[in-house]
Amino acid sequence: MKLKSKLPDVGITIFTIMSKLAADTGAVNLSQGFPDFDVAPRLVELVNTHMKAGRNQYAPMQGVEVLRQALASKTEKLYGAAIDPDTQITITSGATEALYSAITALVHPGDEVMVIEPAFDSYVPAILLNQGIPVFSKLTWPEYGIDWDQVLDRVGPKTRAIILNSPHNPTGTVLGSQDIEALRLLVSRNDLFIISDEVYEHIIFDGRPHHSMLRYPELARRSLVISSFGKTYHTTGWKIGYCIAPPELTAEFQKVHQFLTFASNTPIQYAYADILTKPRLYLELGSFYQRKRDLFLELIADSRFTALQCRGTYFIMLDYSKITSEADIDFARRMTRQYGVAAIPPSVFYHDGTDNKVLRFCFAKKDQTLQEAAEKLCKI
Ligand code: PMP
Ligand code: GLN
Repeated sequence: MKLKSKLPDVGITIFTIMSKLAADTGAVNLSQGFPDFDVAPRLVELVNTHMKAGRNQYAPMQGVEVLRQALASKTEKLYGAAIDPDTQITITSGATEALYSAITALVHPGDEVMVIEPAFDSYVPAILLNQGIPVFSKLTWPEYGIDWDQVLDRVGPKTRAIILNSPHNPTGTVLGSQDIEALRLLVSRNDLFIISDEVYEHIIFDGRPHHSMLRYPELARRSLVISSFGKTYHTTGWKIGYCIAPPELTAEFQKVHQFLTFASNTPIQYAYADILTKPRLYLELGSFYQRKRDLFLELIADSRFTALQCRGTYFIMLDYSKITSEADIDFARRMTRQYGVAAIPPSVFYHDGTDNKVLRFCFAKKDQTLQEAAEKLCKI
C-alpha cells in the first residue's frame, strides 16, 4: 500500500541532527537545549523514595493530586492567580505533549493559528496534523520584538488561537508590559485563544518580571499556559510538563491528553511535588543562568561573533556576519566539524528559512564546557 505522509515537508528535527553531528565529531555540544551538569541529588533520592514506596502504577489522568496542589499554590504566590487544582491543571509528558494536546483540542480543519517566528519547532507540525492553517508573523530584526501591527493585520475571524512563547526560544527575548497591552487590544477585537508556552518562566534575567498570562485575568480566561519541569529542575530527560487553563478549556484539553498518553510518570510527579515546597530552587534559577550568560559573553568577547541581547532562556544568539556569509545551516555544520562547537541554525524555525546570519548557542553548561567552547569560538 502506498503511504501518504501527513507531514511531507517535515524531516528529522534539527535538535537530533545537531546533537548527533556533535557526538559523531566529538564537538562541544551547545546546540540542543539541555544542561550538561547534574540534577540535584535530593531530587533523584526523592524519585527513588517514591519508587521504593510502591508509587509505580498509573497516575491519575490529570496528574497526582499533591503535585497539582503544589502547582496551584506556587501559581498563586508568583502570579496572584487562584487556580483550582482539580479543574484547571493537567500534568503532561513534557511541554511538547501539552502543546500538542492544546493545539489538538482547539484547532478544527481550516482554523487559522497565529505563529510568531522564529518558532519552536513542534508548533507548526501540530497545527498541520490537525488540518489547521498556520499564519505567520516574524519578530523584528535585530530586536526580535513582536510586530503587533502585523499580528493585528493577519488575525481575523478564522483565527482560533495565537501561540506565544516568553521567555522566547531561540531569541532570548521576553514579553514586556507593552506587549501585554497590545495583546489586550488584540483579544478585545478578536475572539481567540492564547496558547502560552512559558517553559522558561524561571529563566529570566536582569530583574525583569515574567509576564505570565496567569497574571492577567482577562488574558488568563482564554489561555492555556504550558510549562515544563525539565527546564526548571535540569531534568529535560524526565519529560514532565503541565498545562494550566480555565475549567472548560481544561476539560477539552484532557479529552485529548487522556488518549494521547493517559497519564505521566508517577514517582517523578511525587518527587516534583516534594521539591516544589523549596521555592529557592526555582527562584534562584534566573541568577544561576544569568551568571552563565555573563560568563559565556565574557569568554567570547574577543571572538568575531557579536552577541544579540538575551533576557531569558538558556540560549543566546550570536551574529556571525563578520566571519562568513554562508547560510546558517552550512556554517553550523562546518563550525561543528572544523572548529568543534555545535550550535543551532535558527533559519529552521522560520517557514521561509529566514537567515539572519546568527546561530543559537545553549549556555546551560558547566563553566568548564563554556570555557572549552569559547576557546574554540575565539579561534574562528
Ligand atoms: N517549548 C519550548 C519553547 C522549548 O524550548 C521546549 C524545550 N524542549 C519545549 C517547549 C518542550 O519542553 P519539554 O521538553 O518539556 O517537552
Ligand atoms: N528545547 C530544546 C531546544 O530548543 C530541545 C528540544 C528538543 O530536543 N525537542 O534545544
